[in-house]
Amino acid sequence: MSKEKKTISFSISKLITLLILLVFLYFAYKYYQTNNFNDFVKSETNLYTSHFTRDNKTYKITSDEYNDAMFYKKVKVNKNQPYKVTCMVKTNQVEAKEEQSGVGAQISIEGTTERSVAISGTQEWQKIELIFNSKNREEVNIGFRLGGYLGKAKGEAWFSNFTIEEGIAEQDNNWKFACFIFKTTDVTINQKQIKLKVTQSDIMDITNTIRLFETSCYNLSDGKMTADCDIYEIDTPLSSLSYDSEFGYYVSAEDIENQIKDTIASNSYDHIFAIVRLGDEEHENDIQVNDWIGLGSMDYYGIGFSNIRLPNDSRSYIYKYNSRINTFPEEVFLHEFLHSLERNAQEYGYSRPELHDYEKYGYKNETLTGQKAWYTDYMNKNINMNGNQVGLPKEVFTLKPAKSSNFKYSYKMEEVFKEPQNIIDEIRGIMKNLVNNIELLTGGKN
Ligand SMILES: [Zn+2]
Repeated sequence: MSKEKKTISFSISKLITLLILLVFLYFAYKYYQTNNFNDFVKSETNLYTSHFTRDNKTYKITSDEYNDAMFYKKVKVNKNQPYKVTCMVKTNQVEAKEEQSGVGAQISIEGTTERSVAISGTQEWQKIELIFNSKNREEVNIGFRLGGYLGKAKGEAWFSNFTIEEGIAEQDNNWKFACFIFKTTDVTINQKQIKLKVTQSDIMDITNTIRLFETSCYNLSDGKMTADCDIYEIDTPLSSLSYDSEFGYYVSAEDIENQIKDTIASNSYDHIFAIVRLGDEEHENDIQVNDWIGLGSMDYYGIGFSNIRLPNDSRSYIYKYNSRINTFPEEVFLHEFLHSLERNAQEYGYSRPELHDYEKYGYKNETLTGQKAWYTDYMNKNINMNGNQVGLPKEVFTLKPAKSSNFKYSYKMEEVFKEPQNIIDEIRGIMKNLVNNIELLTGGKN
């Protein structure tokens, strides 16, 4: 009798333990399903501010306060190849902290300015893409982000259907340029409305200068590249400017995205010039410009982007050919384009002199031709430095930006963003994450 009772009570306690364990496992699994981000690493500017949750294959970032939050995955890439990353994204009340078109729900490469379009407001599911060139890199952290390199955002963003493919880079040296002339500038600076116009004679001068630029690219590079420029006159006013403490006001790619995006999307351009007026005789100093006539080294989704500023003084000869005053009016265009090649050469791992260092190498700014001799030797790697020839490597003329046309025949890297297919995959994922996290905590990855 007593023996039998003991057996029963033992079984009940065993059953209760089992039940507790099952309940615990159930909640642990639920918690895991919501909070596990598979191979993704979560990252925030303001730590522990945003919420990262997952519902099956949909990943969500919620930021009640302004933050820059993303989850990213380290992806192995081949050098010098174009890549395209896509995902579906949905947003609810996404709002950038400062009015800034590069901030919102987006795909981006962690630690760089490379990104897709940024979605804000409340928008249904839509597909977005990031196109980039790996250049000198063998791995990149591909992130799905609410915020941006340029600022913070709040709201809710859902991401799903991640894909990545490797395209085929163009090998030719024929560069296509898009030259946008903004016919009117209409901005409010320090509560003052400033309206400026580009005249027909400005447009004639710029058009002639662009034709000279095409010829000079070929001639000065000794045939290492060709330049083919399309000119667009934009009627929609330039209504937004960016400010930088060093340069003053200038036009960032974000300022004119709406006016140029359709043209860029439907063509295969390798470089973009934005030609603008930021002052005239009446508005000499209303828009602060710190002594620049061109600005370069910028990019529009990976495509080189430069500003060309028309002079305030209508009598200026800067973009006019004149045999006694200026025989090299295309200089500013060439200079700004070379800034993009200079940056590109560096990003592909080549060493080259700084474009501004002409005096260091014994070159002068000549009255009629400016720094033409310097640019010629710069483009042909013909600058003498202690018996060595330095300058741009000839390869740089074929290293053009990644663009949609590179993906006609592409390789889909299906393994990269593959969701776990079964419980074994999931457990493998958890173990991998644990190892990653431990490495992060101990600094093993740096
Ligand atoms: Zn410069």
